[in-house]
Amino acid sequence: MTIYQTLKAEAEALFPTLVAWRRDFHQHPELGFQEVRTAGVVADHLRELGLEVSTGVGKTGVVAMIENDEAANDAPIVLLRFDMDALPILEQNDLPYRSRNDGVMHACGHDGHTAIGMGVAQLLTKRRNELPGRVKLVFQPAEEGLGGALAMINDGALTEPKPTAAFGLHLWSRLPLNQVVVQSGPLWATAGKFELIVHGRGGHGAVPHETVDAVLAASQIVVAWQSIVARNVDPSETAVISVCSFNSGEAYNIIAAQAKLLGTIRSFDDKMHKFLQQRMTEMAHGICQAYGATCEISFPSDCPATINSVAGAALMQTVAEQIVGAEQVTQIKPMMVAEDMSEFLNRAPGCFILVGASDPAQPMHSPHHNPTFDFDERMLPTGVALLAGAAVAYLQEQR
Ligand SMILES: [Zn+2]
Ligand SMILES: [Zn+2]
Repeated sequence: MTIYQTLKAEAEALFPTLVAWRRDFHQHPELGFQEVRTAGVVADHLRELGLEVSTGVGKTGVVAMIENDEAANDAPIVLLRFDMDALPILEQNDLPYRSRNDGVMHACGHDGHTAIGMGVAQLLTKRRNELPGRVKLVFQPAEEGLGGALAMINDGALTEPKPTAAFGLHLWSRLPLNQVVVQSGPLWATAGKFELIVHGRGGHGAVPHETVDAVLAASQIVVAWQSIVARNVDPSETAVISVCSFNSGEAYNIIAAQAKLLGTIRSFDDKMHKFLQQRMTEMAHGICQAYGATCEISFPSDCPATINSVAGAALMQTVAEQIVGAEQVTQIKPMMVAEDMSEFLNRAPGCFILVGASDPAQPMHSPHHNPTFDFDERMLPTGVALLAGAAVAYLQEQR
């Protein structure tokens, strides 16, 4: 048996445990930077395995190192990353392991990622004296747009000591069970947030001519922005502008003095990203001026594109072929979703893969971030074997 087949068999044997961990996390979801219970469960498990654990890294992150007792000081280090946060969604599934924290739900599958990380820790710790190097386990808070990766990096997750490669995964409910997407180059997009505040002049709903209606000006901006992708972006390139939140006004008979829009912009490169920001700014100011309003627009944070290195993807391809079979390893068109795993990959090149989690009996599962999201738990052992395998393969390659 190859090491990959052994890891796969051991991961399969761990299936009931992985399911129990995942369901426990699913029942107790926590929002970004509030993963106190989750981080506690992870840290306890890692300590039980005999690992030295750092907690509170990037607020609620957990880091542990799996070391060979004999490893030289300059032995290679590979980072494996698992995200732990849930989303502000009221779960609508009628499941025994439904969220017990109303309004918060693991609707992206990070409960599965955290369980996979605990499984990887167990498998690799067992054979730590056979590892030709070290494995740095990073359990990350706040992936969902809150900058958890950067918070951990700013708190030293990539130093003392520094890993030279990073690997991670996302379970993916749109992909058939246990298919694995491995690709070199861009997988996911650059994502930026925007916030626009329109200032008008409030007044009585029956006396509109004495007001500057912030709802009307903001509505025109929402519509006009949709022409940027349709009429300013080169059709052979890709971009998205989505207004995802529109808040204004409080009463039936008061014209609102202010409106606030929040949303996201997506692209695959910096130049396009800056172009979208520039056009949005120009249009917002132009429309406000036409309506006698003013506005402020800001772009609070960006998450870089998720780009896999050639070497990282090649290594992952070999490992995935051993674990799921070559016919199950596939590629997809790059998608406009984003992932702050990119912050790790930009500093420690490697590969981020997708693992199919669609239940074959229910291929039309709800998408990620939907209140009825769920996934096929039979992908959990595959995820464990893939990332444990990637760590072993990388360390062997560096030897
Ligand atoms: Zn998500
Ligand atoms: Zn996610």
